[in-house]
Amino acid sequence: SESGSSCYRVVLIGEHGVGKSSLANIFAGVHDSIDSDCEVLGEDTYERALMVDGESATVILLDMWDNKHEGEWIRDHCMQVGDAYLIVYSITDRASFEKASELRIQLRRARQKEDIPIILVGNKSDLVRCREVSVAEGRACAVVFDCKFIETSAAVQHNVKELFEGIVRQVRLRRDSK
Ligand code: GDP
Ligand code: MG
Repeated sequence: SESGSSCYRVVLIGEHGVGKSSLANIFAGVHDSIDSDCEVLGEDTYERALMVDGESATVILLDMWDNKHEGEWIRDHCMQVGDAYLIVYSITDRASFEKASELRIQLRRARQKEDIPIILVGNKSDLVRCREVSVAEGRACAVVFDCKFIETSAAVQHNVKELFEGIVRQVRLRRDSK
């Protein structure tokens, strides 16, 4: 719709060490000197405009899931405030994949009756020799959890742009069908 503001709050969740902050840094454009569109709103909050399918969207990305200083309330907060979620695991760490399933269930419980867009993200796809979770397993998990799936590598910046475009598309699909 034309009227609704196209500003989406996207939250990164997942086990410590899977690459959430690395993905956030790429989103923030830390690594690309040409585009300085990103505004850093806080230590772990980034805002930038993205052009997706010819339409502009503003994404506010929250990377505060691992913020230990703030205590446990921050996770409850994260579960409540997202318009969309990126549940990240590392393809080199099966425990993080299992954790991703737990988080999906937690999220469903926290936001009952809401059809929240989620992408299950298998990060570190560059580490082929250390792979513990196959692409097929990731995909199957996403089917069970009724969400999208993508493998990314923050290290070599593979599929990261596609990830952020993908989450914008998922939010739009739901908004447009209302
Ligand atoms: P977070 O705890 O989820 O925020 O994870 P970080 O972004 O801090 O990453 C944890 C570690 O994994 C760091 O040493 C990163 O450099 C590394 N890392 C993150 N993403 C990738 C990736 O795609 N490939 C590889 N090889 N290493 C990564
Ligand atoms: Mg981090």
